[in-house]
Amino acid sequence: MEKKEFQAESKRLLEMMINSIYTKKEVFLRELISNASDAIDKIYYKALTDDSLTFQKDQYYIKVIPNKEKRTLTIVDTGIGMTKEELEENLGTIAKSGSLAFKKENELKDGYDIIGQFGVGFYAAFMVADVVTVISKALGSDQAYKWESKGADGFTIEPYEKEEVGTEIILKIKENTEDDNYDEFLDEYRLKQIIKKYSDFIRYPIKMDVKVQ
Ligand code: ADP
Ligand code: MG
Repeated sequence: MEKKEFQAESKRLLEMMINSIYTKKEVFLRELISNASDAIDKIYYKALTDDSLTFQKDQYYIKVIPNKEKRTLTIVDTGIGMTKEELEENLGTIAKSGSLAFKKENELKDGYDIIGQFGVGFYAAFMVADVVTVISKALGSDQAYKWESKGADGFTIEPYEKEEVGTEIILKIKENTEDDNYDEFLDEYRLKQIIKKYSDFIRYPIKMDVKVQ
C-alpha cells in the first residue's frame, strides 16, 4: 500500500472547504453525481470514434446506495473509471480538474456555485464523510485500485478486486453532532429529494438501492 500526501494547495483548500466555504452540505451529492455522469460521457464519446466499443444505453447508469447499518453512502457509476495514475492525479490535486476552465467561463458569473469555481467538486465528499473510499477500474485496464482518504492527511492507494469497469465511491457518513445532522444523507427519501433538486438534468438513469438491515 502506498501512502501519499495531498499537494499543499489541496490541503489548504480542503481544510477551508470543510470548515467554511460551503454551508449547504447536501451539494456533495450533486458533485459526485456530476462526476459519475462525466465519466459515462467519456465512454460515450470514446465509443463514437472507437469501433471496438459500443455504447449500449442501458449498461450505463449511476446508482446511489445508502446503508444505515454500516453508515455508508455509495455512489456507483459504470463510466470510464480511473487508472492508478489517474486516481493519484485527479483525486490528489485540487483544481487539477479538466473541467475547471470550462466552469470558470460558465459559472463564475453566477457567483453562487463556489465549489464549481474552485473545481473542488470531489472534495465536497469530506463535508459529510470522515472516510472516502474510491474503488475504480479504468476502461482497458485489468487491474482495479482502491484509493482511500480520511481528509487532509493524504491518501492511500492499493490494488483491489473489481469486476466491471467504472467507479464506486463509498462515503463513511459522519456521526451526528450537536450542531449537525448527517443521518439525513442515509435516508432514502431525503436522498431522492436532493437528487431531484440538483441532478434532475442528468441524462443517465440514477437508481437507488436500499440496503435494509
Ligand atoms: P471536475 O469534475 O471539475 O473535473 P472534481 O474534483 O469533481 O473536478 O473531479 C476531479 C477529477 O477526478 C475529474 O475531472 C475526473 O477526472 C476524476 N473523477 C472524479 N470522479 C470520477 C468518476 N466517478 N469516474 C471517473 N473519474 C472521476
Ligand atoms: Mg466534478
